[in-house]
Amino acid sequence: KLHNTILELKGNIRVFCRVRPLLPDENRSTEGKIFSYPSSMETSGRGIDLAQNGQKHSFKFDKVFIQDISQEEVFVEVSQLVQSALDGYKVCIFAYGQTGSGKTYTMMGRPGHPDEKGLIPRSLEQIFQAKQSQQPQGWKYEMQVSMLEIYNETIRDLLSTNRSSSDVTRVENGTPGKQYTIKHDVNGNTHVSDLTVVDVHSAKEVAFLLNQAANSRSVGKTQMNEQSSRSHFVFTLRIYGVNESTDQQVQGVLNLIDLAGSERLSKSGSTGDRLRETQAINKSLSSLSDVIFALAKKEDHVPFRNSKLTYLLQPCLGGDSKTLMFVNISPDPSSVGESLCSLRFASRVN
Ligand code: ADP
Ligand code: MG
Repeated sequence: KLHNTILELKGNIRVFCRVRPLLPDENRSTEGKIFSYPSSMETSGRGIDLAQNGQKHSFKFDKVFIQDISQEEVFVEVSQLVQSALDGYKVCIFAYGQTGSGKTYTMMGRPGHPDEKGLIPRSLEQIFQAKQSQQPQGWKYEMQVSMLEIYNETIRDLLSTNRSSSDVTRVENGTPGKQYTIKHDVNGNTHVSDLTVVDVHSAKEVAFLLNQAANSRSVGKTQMNEQSSRSHFVFTLRIYGVNESTDQQVQGVLNLIDLAGSERLSKSGSTGDRLRETQAINKSLSSLSDVIFALAKKEDHVPFRNSKLTYLLQPCLGGDSKTLMFVNISPDPSSVGESLCSLRFASRVN
């Protein structure tokens, strides 16, 4: 059976599916047995079939990237969208999938392998290059970066240099530390109280901040139970452009989001903190799905307020903003159940 994907709903929402290659320690003997790409010839890589217990499930997306497609080839399909942030659009790019499916690889790349850098560094390079090249036409840009994570429906500032350790401990204990309240103004700008916002002038500067954010996350990681896969990472670049010869102004936003792992944890095995985490992740991922589908169907009521993530991103979802969702998939046969769930998340039939 062919599942209806969000594709048919149109709007400014697109879904790309990316199946990563098998890793060296994964079972190669069954390679290619779970997935097939039936329509790749006819529809230029948009179809994916998944076989489970003898049943074939077919899905169609705006693009399907398989196995050895390079980061560069993936970025070719995304660079237009990145450019539109510079042209004044609000853009959100998400990576969705179970832990180990390639979300962070897609977003950040492989550490220490510059040729495998991901979407975030490539986007920044493109934006700062464009900034230079548009100067002769009179365009001047100012850029600001913020980075946060949402863990258990609580925002943590990843660029705060004076984040107190008690903050971390209190989050760990389930009681919120600093309360980062989210406000949207009439111009559609989002303000998160107390959140660190840094003026940036080069891709290098942002790379430095990304590093700082990663360290800030990993500090929490040892203390907080592999937190990075249990929290949403939200990178935000705000772009203010003024054309000095025409007085034209643009304000764009580029949000790049590495979502928490979508795997379902067995209810029985989860208690205490783990259960609370699971509930928070389920809530925010299903809210995200609800919001995206409500937008795609142009429904009057879009339930933005049901999670911190969707509320934070509200001005950047819907309207004339643009959304791209990567559904990251592991080819490992032992992940077939999760893979099916992920494909269905983007086609919404479950
Ligand atoms: P996630 O962030 O979804 O938990 P990762 O991005 O950390 O998953 O990927 C898990 C492992 O698979 C990492 O070792 C990563 O380098 C590797 N990997 C993921 N996607 C690819 C890819 N497209 N090509 C090569 N290696 C990949
Ligand atoms: Mg990750």
